[in-house]
Amino acid sequence: MGCLRCEAPDRTRGAERPQRGAQRGDEAGPMSTGPRAIVRHETWTLTPDREPDAAPLSYKMRCTMCEEESPKSEGWNDPQSWALAHSGKNPSHRTYSEVISRPWRTFMHA
Ligand SMILES: [Zn+2]
Repeated sequence: MGCLRCEAPDRTRGAERPQRGAQRGDEAGPMSTGPRAIVRHETWTLTPDREPDAAPLSYKMRCTMCEEESPKSEGWNDPQSWALAHSGKNPSHRTYSEVISRPWRTFMHA
């Protein structure tokens, strides 16, 4: 990640668009910026990975009191059920962090 500041991004900003995933709908959630590249310098582009071989978007809940975590899930129902059950077993544990894993991919322009 140290390379993000070492070169001038303005020189190439907006010159090219990423090809991968450009035709697909947004499925990444409310914080997504869509398929466009949000970090670019020189020849590398970073984009959310929507290729067929990408790791799935996944969720888990972490108890902020004891750091215990739910199993990772591709949906949010199971982590939320885990949090409710965790509070049921530990009534003083009432705050959680939702941990979302979103796959990203870099690619280099020719
Ligand atoms: Zn806990």
